[in-house]
Amino acid sequence: MPRYIFITGGVVSSLGKGLASAALGALLQARGYKVRLRKLDPYLNVDPGTMSPFQHGEVYVTDDGAEADLDLGHYERFTGVSAAQSDNVTTGRIYSDIIEKERRGDYLGATVQVIPHVTNEIKDFVLSDAGEDVDFVLCEVGGTVGDIEGLPFFEALRQLRQEIPLGETVHIHVTLLPFIKAAGEMKTKPTQHSVKELRSIGIQPDILLCRADREIDSGDRRKIARFCNVRESSVIQGLDARSIYDVPLAYHAEGLDREVLTHFRIDEPPKADLTRWTEISEKLHNPDGEVTIAVVGKYTVLPDAYKSLTEALVHGGIANKVKVKIRWIEAEAFETGDQAALLSGAHGILVPGGFGERGAEGKIKAVQYARESDVPFFGICLGMQMAVVEWARNMAGIETASSSEFGEGGENIVGLMTEWTKGNERMERNKDTDLGGTMRLGAYPAKLTKGSLVEIVYGVSTIEERHRHRYEVNIDYKDRLEQSGLIFSGLSPDGVLPEIVEIPTHPWFIGVQYHPELKSRPFEPHPLFAGFVGAAVKQSRLV
Ligand code: GLN
Repeated sequence: MPRYIFITGGVVSSLGKGLASAALGALLQARGYKVRLRKLDPYLNVDPGTMSPFQHGEVYVTDDGAEADLDLGHYERFTGVSAAQSDNVTTGRIYSDIIEKERRGDYLGATVQVIPHVTNEIKDFVLSDAGEDVDFVLCEVGGTVGDIEGLPFFEALRQLRQEIPLGETVHIHVTLLPFIKAAGEMKTKPTQHSVKELRSIGIQPDILLCRADREIDSGDRRKIARFCNVRESSVIQGLDARSIYDVPLAYHAEGLDREVLTHFRIDEPPKADLTRWTEISEKLHNPDGEVTIAVVGKYTVLPDAYKSLTEALVHGGIANKVKVKIRWIEAEAFETGDQAALLSGAHGILVPGGFGERGAEGKIKAVQYARESDVPFFGICLGMQMAVVEWARNMAGIETASSSEFGEGGENIVGLMTEWTKGNERMERNKDTDLGGTMRLGAYPAKLTKGSLVEIVYGVSTIEERHRHRYEVNIDYKDRLEQSGLIFSGLSPDGVLPEIVEIPTHPWFIGVQYHPELKSRPFEPHPLFAGFVGAAVKQSRLV
């Protein structure tokens, strides 16, 4: 049976709980342990699939097609362990399961209540099979202690600490130590209050991870330990790091993993091998140059909306030992603005995924600019669809080419993939539920054309990548578009769904229907991002 580490947060949100969980997972791995990370989200949405990226950041997609919280992306990037549907649960999912059971009569007449029914479901989620030989399951609870919707989750953790054998659980609470300028002092009171709140619902944390913008002095540590009833060595400081990929090293230096293991009474744990992280840090902080990538998208005001994309570009930078500077460009501004000025100095142009018509014409213009001026171009999902539309309009003589996502009126060369609902178990399951259900979600294979740029970039001929979209480029247009020079270099194994397009006469022009950014890791940069940033490096030497 695995051991369990619970991670909760207090004082304010955005303290980097997800990152702390991911970093701790990576540190335990570095000591040779096998880990699995899970996220419990107290919000009422059944999953984040229908939530606006403006509100909740990107929707992360797992291999098995779950639309999940973006923290699962951190977990995967730091540990390399592929997350699954069974690693993320929300209040909405739990209630919808319970109500389904209640309607079926499964509760045999019992009054259905938060305790025990909701808490039991939460406990079942935490304890569900984590995979073979997993040593530690790390469970992070979203939100902050004191939130009304979080209560059943905290109660479930409280119960679990009594039910799991003694010494097999550790509770880490992440808090904030603000520095008050006027007083010239760091204040421990918010942390004291947060722990008080936690203790009032029956949870005594073992370890406090205190986020601060400067060193915590020994007097403050002692005070926190005393007032919060933890050992002094269990007050761990979490200072702001230069890069998120420095966090595992920083927390290791502060003794986080050692302290966790001490609480588990593992007194002589295997030594941590942190080579992977020191190498990444080395490359990140000593780049040989810098490239600028222009990202022409729709959610550019909220960086979290493109979290995995941003990180994958950083990984592409690590692969080429350069710093990647991202220039966010609002696609709508691109429609009317001076495009050349907006893009001047960019060594690569990326059009990411997105939904809806707003900004589409701007994205098409960005594609055209990249194509005509030989600037490396990378189109992802909607970005690939826009690349095909641009080519159809300007190179293949289909002047009104468009996507049915933008309504009728044009010649829709991108359309709904109704075919996918037939006989596809994952699609059938969700078909008539909601908007989130009509998508092609999760990992699907694709075959790459021999001798194409993507085949060289990947170095293999079959790939598997994660999808999240409703529309597909219509295969019936393949011949016509290929005759004018756009190559369909990746197709679904049955040859029906276009997965990748490229322009062989262009220095680096690739559009992909899937989301490669979801599978990129700092220690294993995705080949497409490594290739794209590599092409941008070449471009930077030309201009
Ligand atoms: N809106 C497009 C579709 O549904 C693209 C989706 C995306 O970019 N993730 O097909």
